[in-house]
Amino acid sequence: MRILVTNDDGVFSEGLKCLAQAMTEIAEVVVVAPDREQSASGHSLTLHRPLRMRRLREHWYSVDGTPTDCVNMAVQGVLKEAPPDLVVSGINYGVNMGDDVTYSGTVSAAFEANMHQLPAVAFSQEVGEGFDFERSASFARELVEVLTREDLPQDLLLNVNFPAERCRGIRWTRLGKRYYQQTVVEKLDPMGRKYYWIAGTPRWESQSGTDHEAVTEGFASVTPLHLDLTDYRSLEESAPLRDRLEHLELR
Ligand code: MN
Repeated sequence: MRILVTNDDGVFSEGLKCLAQAMTEIAEVVVVAPDREQSASGHSLTLHRPLRMRRLREHWYSVDGTPTDCVNMAVQGVLKEAPPDLVVSGINYGVNMGDDVTYSGTVSAAFEANMHQLPAVAFSQEVGEGFDFERSASFARELVEVLTREDLPQDLLLNVNFPAERCRGIRWTRLGKRYYQQTVVEKLDPMGRKYYWIAGTPRWESQSGTDHEAVTEGFASVTPLHLDLTDYRSLEESAPLRDRLEHLELR
């Protein structure tokens, strides 16, 4: 088995090192990761400048681009003749849950893998008391071992979040909902000009069955995701709106 490992915290991050190490115990591992932190880069693809790939050591490469670039460079480049069976991303420093998955470079790398017909798992670790990347990496290995015994669909995407402390078990979850209380901070620079900083404290809606609830209660959360963003409920239920739009005579 061959596993491609990537992340958005950068090729020198501890979470990547621990995950790659754990995967080498069960598979042949190739690492292609951004040369610096690319957190919150989302599903961004670099099209307007050239990309460079550096070989750091055997099976380890860095790319001066996003996680999505890395998956492309790996699949179309170093792994072209020997495609991976699975792509794993992480372990991210900090959770990627609920609405935040669309910002996440960690999760987007997994989405990109799916676009290349490759099953993928994104791993993130809550920051807090008891934080331990090595323990999470070991759980990640156990989880991937289970997956490798299955016949995985090409669009399998599991978003895994580990609680900071040792997890009490695994829960199969859906995405939670969070709101930011404050989003843009306005300040003045030394020249008296305004600058802005996007920040804020996340506030989660308490809902049962969500990733947030699982991690809050000390469980590892596993959320199956899908790249198809179609709202199938509206597709079926918004008949009046559909009718108005489909009968709109465009001038
Ligand atoms: Mn990150």
